[in-house]
Amino acid sequence: MTVAYWEEEIETLPRVGLESVQLSRLKNLVARVYKTVKPYRVKMDAAGVKPEDIKTLADLAKLPFTVKEDLRDNYPFGLFTVPLDEVVRVHASSGTTGKPTVVGYTAKDIKTWSNVMARALCCAGATKNDMVHNAYGYGLFTGGLGAHYGIERLGATAIPVSGGNSKRQITIMKDFGSTVLLSTPSYALNLADSMDAMGIDPKSLSLRIGIFGAEPWSENMRDEVERKLNLKATDIYGLSEVMGPGVAQECLHTERGMHISEDHFLPEIIDPDTGEVLPPGEKGELVFTTLTKEAFPIIRYRTKDISRLFYEPCACGRTLVRMEKITGRTDDMLIIRGVNVFPSQVEHVLMGVDGVEPHYQIVVDRDGNLDTMEVQVEVSEGFFSDEIRKLENLNKYIQMEIKDLLGVTCKVKLVEPKTIQRSEGKAQRVIDNRRI
Ligand code: ADP
Ligand code: ZN
Repeated sequence: MTVAYWEEEIETLPRVGLESVQLSRLKNLVARVYKTVKPYRVKMDAAGVKPEDIKTLADLAKLPFTVKEDLRDNYPFGLFTVPLDEVVRVHASSGTTGKPTVVGYTAKDIKTWSNVMARALCCAGATKNDMVHNAYGYGLFTGGLGAHYGIERLGATAIPVSGGNSKRQITIMKDFGSTVLLSTPSYALNLADSMDAMGIDPKSLSLRIGIFGAEPWSENMRDEVERKLNLKATDIYGLSEVMGPGVAQECLHTERGMHISEDHFLPEIIDPDTGEVLPPGEKGELVFTTLTKEAFPIIRYRTKDISRLFYEPCACGRTLVRMEKITGRTDDMLIIRGVNVFPSQVEHVLMGVDGVEPHYQIVVDRDGNLDTMEVQVEVSEGFFSDEIRKLENLNKYIQMEIKDLLGVTCKVKLVEPKTIQRSEGKAQRVIDNRRI
């Protein structure tokens, strides 16, 4: 198999060279962030660490972590390091409660992102000759636009379909001859079902590569989607706080994880309880420091995603470290049809509604390939005896509020007072019946 690289020199650079690039970028980053962003300066001062203390890559461990709450506390633009007139784009992702987390990009950041995304596409085997069908959602989420710019940077043809309307997606695939599909893995399976319903044989299409991410998926799902769509399925990882899609991507040797573009995103694995850095190969929480971002650099961001890092050389020739497929989270974040949902956000909505009690449960399931979410909530004593219409309105209102704040459609089930099981310790808010 011949391997094509997007930036061969950096992707195959021996570790010493790579580490020296990382170190000089890290030093610059820390100095710049310390100087320009007060919240970082305050935290570093409190930890007794100065930019000059970063002399080796191991010194990274001296720096304080950044967590999602830091983004919320500085909402919307408080962690930007450049004036807003240099910011050419913003994106947003779910926060843990009411406010989303906002990230920004300079023109150079967009270039960097397009480049790492082009690198990811190339890593999966795509070339400029491909018709790339982008079914990630366009909008405030990073998925759609992030992938789009990478497709154009690669020189391939971008088909910006965005999500939804499976029939139309398939017609386009057929008529335009889509060769590469970008979507969430669950949506890919959904497309396969629609194809089946439309009587279209995937072998009659031109699809050859799938680049699936934004939610966890298993090896079983990989087999299924490869079989049902007649393509090679690869995993892509990213998060808006670090950049968006393209932080890491599987090469065609999919058995050992995704190559991280670590000349831009420096990874660590920590023990989520102690914060201690773990040795290579050990499982723990993935932490990222951005090395080149201008508008919204981030230092030691705790992703809450659980993974491992493999530094052994890869058969594809890339020296970039590989991260294992995400195997879980350290918090209770759910991913519902590609959208991040925190139970605390649901609670936040419920707390603002008259007539319901703070006793609720979220039941997640999969209907075919589509995630479903049902919020069960207790109605207040006086309310329950009331007329049906009032209850129906309450139900609709909660649904709408959840849709507005979280961006997901859910079912609401109003239940009688005192019917949701009370816990003796930590409440079990989520019942996840999906078998991924
Ligand atoms: P996205 O648009 O990729 O969902 P967000 O910033 O909204 O970006 O969400 C990032 C989170 O999505 C990650 O922290 C991780 O939990 C999840 N995620 C993204 N890609 C993958 C992947 N390939 N496998 C598992 N989880 C993923
Ligand atoms: Zn490889």
